[in-house]
Amino acid sequence: KKLRWQTERDVKMNKDGLGLHIVFTGAPGCGKGTQARFLKERIAIPHLSTGEMLRAEAAKGTPLGLEIKALIDGGNLVPDEMIIKMLSARIDEDDCKNGFILDGFPRTLPQAEALEKMLSKKGITLDAVIEIQVPDEIIMERILGRYACMTCGQGYHDKYQKPKVYGVCDKCGGTDFYRRIDDNRTTVQNRLVNYRALTYPTIPYFEKKGLLRCVDGTGSIDAVAKKIDSLLAVA
Ligand code: AMP
Repeated sequence: KKLRWQTERDVKMNKDGLGLHIVFTGAPGCGKGTQARFLKERIAIPHLSTGEMLRAEAAKGTPLGLEIKALIDGGNLVPDEMIIKMLSARIDEDDCKNGFILDGFPRTLPQAEALEKMLSKKGITLDAVIEIQVPDEIIMERILGRYACMTCGQGYHDKYQKPKVYGVCDKCGGTDFYRRIDDNRTTVQNRLVNYRALTYPTIPYFEKKGLLRCVDGTGSIDAVAKKIDSLLAVA
């Protein structure tokens, strides 16, 4: 399937070689990570999750890692400067040359402005910002029930997405699973407050730039993925 931003040359050179640079945004638990991972399988460009990058840093247990962990566990954002540096270095890696899917970044207006500056220095233009819209009452239930495979990261949910065989990952056969420490009621409430105060202002910012595309995120994973595909496909 040809995407709107895929040139004839991309098609000839490599059918997966898409110069597609997009952002998934929306409240915590709206499904941006799930959809970004799902899209990555269909179009073969890397999924850059700042949350995952920070959790990896936190797991190292270094002084910086511990500082990050305390912020994440309380549902607070890490400083803009730190995350911008981290992301800029990641985008310079070789696997991003045909594009990327950003998930969880930008999360503040200064991050949105820094992204634009950073990309223009690298000669990259953002193609679209996809906002996945889900009401708050659905978000809490989604987050409190979610967990993931420790080996491959495949996401599951107590009610909505159970593994086919109890205790065994559908994707890799792994048998160890984990829940995020910040997926508890108090922290999620704080994450929602921070989303509204700090992240939401980036939505009108991208809308003014003509980059915003909104998707109703309340359906099944497949149904939402179909809507995203139709936004990205040639009409
Ligand atoms: P996520 O996996 O996207 O839900 O992110 C988990 C946590 O990592 C957030 O609650 C923040 O504490 C931190 N985080 C992730 N991305 C960013 C960002 N772009 N700016 C600041 N903090 C972030």
